[in-house]
Amino acid sequence: MRLDRFLCETTDLTRSLAKKALHREEVQVDGEVIKNPATQVDASRRVTWNGEPLALVGLRYVMLNKPAGVECSARRGLYPLVRELVDLPHVERLQTVGRLDVDTTGLVLLTDDGQWSHRVTSPKRRCGKVYRVTLAEPLEGEALDAAVRQFAEGLWLEGEEKPTRPAELSMREPRVAELTLFEGKYHQVKRMFAAIGHHVAALHRESIGPLALGELAPGEWRELSDEERAQF
Ligand code: URA
Repeated sequence: MRLDRFLCETTDLTRSLAKKALHREEVQVDGEVIKNPATQVDASRRVTWNGEPLALVGLRYVMLNKPAGVECSARRGLYPLVRELVDLPHVERLQTVGRLDVDTTGLVLLTDDGQWSHRVTSPKRRCGKVYRVTLAEPLEGEALDAAVRQFAEGLWLEGEEKPTRPAELSMREPRVAELTLFEGKYHQVKRMFAAIGHHVAALHRESIGPLALGELAPGEWRELSDEERAQF
């Protein structure tokens, strides 16, 4: 890649500041001052800026247990951002893989690998997401049988062009459901329960495909292993 781009990728410099640093002879490649921003470099070259070695950051894959009150969006709004909980260099490059609502807790994946993110979220891959859904009122008897059937067949949510994909519903307790979705429409869980006359009081995502939160406490995060990442 071009040297000015390398500087942008490995530091907080913008493209124009990188060019200025080059012009001021602050950058060396393999011990030699280089001023030309178009010089091609790769990870095998030793690049320094003011004597400090710079290294390209590889793609990152993170799982996090999202607490309530943080937001899965790219820009700061009313709430802190999920990625602000992650202590890694260039954290601003991490995007969440799909989203959870501000009040929803549980498993969130973050990455700067757009293709991997697409693989995880693509409904064609049938990567099941398991939610623990606490309802305001119990769901039992015939109403439960009907809900299981409707969720399995797919239901039409307002404003959508297609019915929901088949989803799996079971009850752990009269007010606590387990719902597995194979897609991710906006507010999908809450809208599906609203469509059968139930209000979701609390929502928690437990797993995405083979990845489960395990021992990760709310607010904690860890990088995925190569094996975990390769499962998608
Ligand atoms: N469905 C919802 O309604 N909210 C979420 O945060 C996730 C799925």
